[in-house]
Amino acid sequence: MTLYNQQMIKLLLFLITLTTSVYALEIVQKPISFSEHRKALTLQYINTHYGLTPDDITITPQVIVVHFTAIPTLQGSFEAFNSEELPSSRKDIAAKSASVNVSVAYLVDRDGTIYQLMPENWMGRHVIGLNYSSIGIENVGKLGNLTEKQAEANIALISYLQHKYSSIGYLIGHSNYRCFEESALWLEKDKSYRTQKEDPGEAFMHKLRSSITGLKKAPCK
Ligand SMILES: [Zn+2]
Repeated sequence: MTLYNQQMIKLLLFLITLTTSVYALEIVQKPISFSEHRKALTLQYINTHYGLTPDDITITPQVIVVHFTAIPTLQGSFEAFNSEELPSSRKDIAAKSASVNVSVAYLVDRDGTIYQLMPENWMGRHVIGLNYSSIGIENVGKLGNLTEKQAEANIALISYLQHKYSSIGYLIGHSNYRCFEESALWLEKDKSYRTQKEDPGEAFMHKLRSSITGLKKAPCK
C-alpha cells in the first residue's frame, strides 16, 4: 500500500468517527401516556384553538421550541406531562371542560440524558399558537441553572432534528413565541389566550445558537 493510500484510509476513518460522534445520538425512550383519549383531546384542541379538522395529530415540524420545566427533578417533570388531561391546577391555561395536558417530544435531564416522551411528529401542547408546527424540547431546571451537559445535549438533539426534517427553519426559546403572532405559522384564534414566559433564558439560547447554524430566530420586530 502506498503512503498516499494509507493517508487516505486514515482520513476516511477520521471522517467516519467524526460523523458517528455527531449523529450517534443516544435517546432513551420514556413514553408518557398517550392513548386514543389523549389523541382525541389533541384533535379537539386543534379544532377549538386553530379551527382545523385534520384526521390525525401528525404535524410537519417547522420550529424547534426550547423550554425549561421549572420542576427540579426528572421524575417530577415526567409526571407533569404524563397525565392525559390538563390538571385543574394549571389555572393559567385550563378550560372549563376536559382539555389535553401539556407535553413535548423530548425531555433533557440535568446530566444531559435525552428522553423521548412521545413521537416528535405528533402534536404536543407546549406553546400557544405554534403547537401544530413545532417540536418541543424541555429541560429539567429553571432560569439560570440549566447545566453545560444540558446545553451539549440540546445542541446534539437540535442538530439531529435539523438533519432529519428539512422542513425545520426556526430555533426559538419559549419566551419568544409571541414574535410569531403576525406570521403565517401562528394559528391561535383566541386573542386573549396568552401567557408570559421566561424559558429557557437568553444565556442558554445564546449557547445553543453559537453551535447551531442554519436555523432562524423568532421574527421579532
Ligand atoms: Zn416553556
